[in-house]
Amino acid sequence: MRIDVLGVGFDNLTMAEAVEAGACLLQEEGCHYVVTPNPEIVEVCRENPAAMAAVNGADLVLPDGIGVVKGAAMLGTPLKEKTPGIEFAAGLMARMAKEGKSLYLLGARPGVADKAAERLKGQYPGLRIAGTHDGYFKEDAPVAEAIRASEADCVFVCLGAPKQELWMAKWGEETGACLLCGLGGSLDVFAGVVERAPKFWSDHGLEWFYRLCKEPKRIGRMMKLPLFLLHVRKEKRGR
Ligand code: UDP
Repeated sequence: MRIDVLGVGFDNLTMAEAVEAGACLLQEEGCHYVVTPNPEIVEVCRENPAAMAAVNGADLVLPDGIGVVKGAAMLGTPLKEKTPGIEFAAGLMARMAKEGKSLYLLGARPGVADKAAERLKGQYPGLRIAGTHDGYFKEDAPVAEAIRASEADCVFVCLGAPKQELWMAKWGEETGACLLCGLGGSLDVFAGVVERAPKFWSDHGLEWFYRLCKEPKRIGRMMKLPLFLLHVRKEKRGR
């Protein structure tokens, strides 16, 4: 059973369990997708019913940051741990490399996915990159067709939220892949274009603050975090 945080149902898994679940989905028939909402995305979902449906329609819903884990604890229904999308992706790539599965990288500015592909091939020997495409396309169908032609087993969809969740829900089947994962800005990190917060910051639940210092223009988006906590408190009183 999923744990409800302001309408979004989260799977209650450790990181190891989440990677195992992802690897199982890769073996199953049909098309599946994974989402990794943070408090900002939960707030977007509250305002956008289509985004809410796309997120809750995923086969795996993983809490991307400490904010969701705190929210769930405040509501009296704790989650085991945060399972950041980028770490989930790393675990899954290690499995894919071992199992000979192929990966398509979709998203980010032109050139970034190619750069990420080069670096990932070095980091995960045996990982097959089926293809790449930037995230600033006008028409969806040719992109889905290109992925289908690549015969990728898995697609990392990094278009930002809620675009990536809506895209996976609508176009996932068309790609012919077994598994799609919505991973926000992960390709920028894999390409080395954006630096992830050092371990100290993420271990102390301060990754958001590190990102804010590096990219002050995110302040508008980050104001959704206190709003999220406010809504959780209200929800708790209501329950
Ligand atoms: N992006 C994209 N197409 C778009 C809008 C955004 O490919 O139409 C990419 C953007 O270049 C970035 C990622 O989506 O690589 C979103 O990153 P963001 O930092 O917003 O995601 P987060 O990790 O915070 O969810």
